[in-house]
Amino acid sequence: MQQAEQGDADTAPGSCLRMMLEALPSPVLLIDRADRIVEVNQAFCALAGKDRAYWLSTPITAYLAPGQAARFAAEHAQVFATGEDLETEEVIDGHDGAIRHVVTRRRRVVFDGAPLVLTILTDITPLRAAEAHIRHLAYHDTLTDLPNRAALNERLAAALVDCPQAPPALLLIDLYQFKDINDAFGDCVGDALLRAFAYRLASAARGPDRVARTGGDSFAVLVDDCSDAAGAEAACRRMLALADTPFAGPAGAVALGVSIGCAWAEPGLCADELHRRAEFALYEAKRQPANAFCLYDAALAAEVQARRTLTAELRTALAAGDQFDVHYQPVIDAGGHRVVGVEALVRWHHPQHGMVPPARFIPIAEASGLIVPLGDWVLDRAVAMMVRFPAIALAVNLSPIQLRSPGIDARILAILARHGMDPRQLQLEVTESTMLAMDAGVEAALARLREAGVQLVLDDFGTGYSSLSHLHKLAVDRVKIDQSFVHDLGRSQDARAIIQAVLGIGQALGIGVTAEGVEDETQQLFLRSFGCHEYQGYLFSRPLPAIEAVAFLETHMERAAA
Ligand code: C2E
Ligand code: MG
Ligand code: MG
Repeated sequence: MQQAEQGDADTAPGSCLRMMLEALPSPVLLIDRADRIVEVNQAFCALAGKDRAYWLSTPITAYLAPGQAARFAAEHAQVFATGEDLETEEVIDGHDGAIRHVVTRRRRVVFDGAPLVLTILTDITPLRAAEAHIRHLAYHDTLTDLPNRAALNERLAAALVDCPQAPPALLLIDLYQFKDINDAFGDCVGDALLRAFAYRLASAARGPDRVARTGGDSFAVLVDDCSDAAGAEAACRRMLALADTPFAGPAGAVALGVSIGCAWAEPGLCADELHRRAEFALYEAKRQPANAFCLYDAALAAEVQARRTLTAELRTALAAGDQFDVHYQPVIDAGGHRVVGVEALVRWHHPQHGMVPPARFIPIAEASGLIVPLGDWVLDRAVAMMVRFPAIALAVNLSPIQLRSPGIDARILAILARHGMDPRQLQLEVTESTMLAMDAGVEAALARLREAGVQLVLDDFGTGYSSLSHLHKLAVDRVKIDQSFVHDLGRSQDARAIIQAVLGIGQALGIGVTAEGVEDETQQLFLRSFGCHEYQGYLFSRPLPAIEAVAFLETHMERAAA
């Protein structure tokens, strides 16, 4: 009997309903017209906490905050009134106090003759969390957790619109030669330094949302109240000071250098243009030694643009290979009759602008790294031409960038070997600044070249930083006195004294001395009276195209033989 009663109870409509509700994985509620909870399942209790008894027969609005309750009641009434399903999304407090995102689907039903609203909740908290994470990733840099370039652009655009009367300045900050730090200490230390620098930037700016990591070693900062050059300069100096204190590295303090470009907004300026201006300024700052900053101005932008165009054209010209040429300027001995050498000087015949002077394009080739293939090409061309004049030295200019390029010594020796030139015929011209800033790798490469017989010449002597007393410390075979001293010979006591001193030290150390830029006979006479034995200059010959240089050399050799 008891069993039968139990069985009847199990098949009663209420029990069937509960069984079905419990079988559903989603939290479900049945709510009557008076907002009272008629039934809940276990999934709902698990989501909201408390047990079934707690929820039953109480209006659901009693559990909700006033605003939420009013909205819920209105939506509930709407489903009763229209009979149409309703789907909404809301945020509720979970049983553990954590916020849950739920989608609520309501449907009007009739159960046991009574109209109710079947309310099914779907917990979409993990979905929303994943979306938030994806959004965060899309707008943040994973290494430093700073906002990324996309976030910065949006913020900048918003700042320009929201605050046109006091727009922010934009500082672009690049770490100086950060690749060297990565190479020296490894990527892990590099990453730690980037994080430490990011932390300093974020602390110095007004909150992390004013700072962004825009690339590997590039950062950006938005600075408020900075609408003129003075304000921008002060902001740049503040950022320079941040990098000034060394960072803790695994084997002691590590100093980071920075380059900063800054532009500030004018009324009506869009975010893209402000960014472009700051980039112009950064480009200029990066051409300078570490810890330089540069403020945007229109003339600078025009120059940077011209240089960028020239860089692109230089790259195209190198690929095409038919716009460059090598000219040769003879070097004459003391009597002025014997050609003892030539200097190879590169020439660029630009299809539109005609001849571009090396003083204009060599620095651009250096900044872009194109000097390495260009320098190899010049050397190859010059060696191929001069191998038939083994008694005449071939001088080729070598930029510091070329010298630092890996395998430079092997490449030079391979070119010599390919053309069958004795290394002793080749002179490599480097400047004082190159010699003074040599690292161990460059020093070793130069030592190997000298060992093979290649001579090292100090070019443009007197224009760099070294004093005469340095000369004996530099392992060079010859010095070229810069043409500015030769030019001033007749007018300046100082120029005369310097030339005499260089010649004196050269003699004492057994280093040959060549005077550059000899343009007239008075200069030649002066130089000869001081004991200078080699000259190069327009007085004897301008740099000549290969065909004319060959004719010049053959004529002089015939004359010397006669
Ligand atoms: P540099 O190596 O000191 O070359 C001498 C420069 O002085 C050449 O200018 C030459 O034409 C000029 N010159 C020679 N005699 C006289 C003279 O009597 N009076 C005057 N006023 N100038 C004279 P250029 O060819 O314009 O080259 C300028 C600089 O460009 C060179 O100075 C060198 O530093 C660089 N350069 C030229 N070719 C190359 C190259 O193939 N590779 C590299 N890395 N640098 C190069
Ligand atoms: Mg030279
Ligand atoms: Mg020179």
